[in-house]
Amino acid sequence: MERIYFDYAATTPCDPSVVEAMKPYFSEKFGNPSSIHYFGQEAKKTIEDTRSKVASFLGAREDEIIFTSGGTESDNFALFGILWGNTVRGNHVVTTAIEHHAILEPADFLEKHGFQVTYVKPDANGSISPEDIKNALTDKTVLVSVMHANNEIGTIQPIRQIADIAKEKGVYFHTDAVQTVGHIPVNVNELNVDLLSLSAHKFYGPKGVGCLYVRKGTRIQPYLRGGGQERHRRASTENVPGIVGLGKAIDICSQEMDAEAKVQVRLRDKLITEIPKRIKRVYLNGHPTQRLPNNVNFSIEYIEGESMLLNLDMQGIAASTGSACTSGDLEPSHVLLSIGRPHELCHGSIRLTLGRFTKEAQVDRFLDVFPNIVAKLRSMSPLYEG
Ligand code: PLP
Repeated sequence: MERIYFDYAATTPCDPSVVEAMKPYFSEKFGNPSSIHYFGQEAKKTIEDTRSKVASFLGAREDEIIFTSGGTESDNFALFGILWGNTVRGNHVVTTAIEHHAILEPADFLEKHGFQVTYVKPDANGSISPEDIKNALTDKTVLVSVMHANNEIGTIQPIRQIADIAKEKGVYFHTDAVQTVGHIPVNVNELNVDLLSLSAHKFYGPKGVGCLYVRKGTRIQPYLRGGGQERHRRASTENVPGIVGLGKAIDICSQEMDAEAKVQVRLRDKLITEIPKRIKRVYLNGHPTQRLPNNVNFSIEYIEGESMLLNLDMQGIAASTGSACTSGDLEPSHVLLSIGRPHELCHGSIRLTLGRFTKEAQVDRFLDVFPNIVAKLRSMSPLYEG
């Protein structure tokens, strides 16, 4: 049975050329970049070359890139680093109700430790209004953090407008761009952001490596302490093979991203138009046009999401109900609840995320198989009346 992968938002396979680029850095070029001998300096040079590559991809300066262990660490670093580093200016952060848990949980922790957090709600398409952000600012606000695109429903936010509002008030602006970097153009100056998180495993690089962009002049406290790496901003021996893989993944994305997005948009739109034609009582989640090129998310009435996924998996198709971190969780998605979906619809949602290796024939196979699965599950539902 051919296995079909429609879960690229959870993680992507490492591109084979990324794996090749990383290989020498495990046992041949294994030096510690802090060592002064040849082995160390060879590793250090590789890191600095990659840093300059990442910086130019994002339109940043080299000294504005801090390598981290991925999206979660970058998000935690941005929140804790800015709030701890700016207590003289204030103690308030504005974020949104639909952020990834890598933002929501540190925000909750900060709230329990004397800081104040405002969670701005999205509209029914999952868009955050710049005006609502403006109204949430107080003279104690030091940071606004709004994700570039949502990992569950794919809505892309008006980051530039929101960032401009924050900057006018002298407030730092962070965006979690984990779902956009490598998929759509991301330039820190065009977006006017002070901080930006990215993660390599979302764009065909390895897991466990990412970076936080921090605009020069931003007052930020280290999150990891205990060494002078990353100009004393992030302690711990650098993940050299991971950083090399991140750099190679960026090389490929800078060449392929636009063409890949075009293909994915066509396949995405095929799914978005065909699913409602073949199955009644389905509702698209997320913005109809301002959405990631690879994201499809539907709520399906009278169906339980986990049973859809298990039935699809038996047919060799891997999909998701939302974020990997919340699947298996009985709590309905906080994102779907925030856009106003009732509990039953939140439990009956399916997310399909496409990627570099998705073929049209795989989309067609899904369109053949899925209506039968829905019909079978609905026939077992006491609530469904046909
Ligand atoms: N932020 C968003 C929007 C994500 O989708 C994810 C991962 O799913 C993360 C942060 C966490 O990234 P990582 O898995 O690299 O820690």
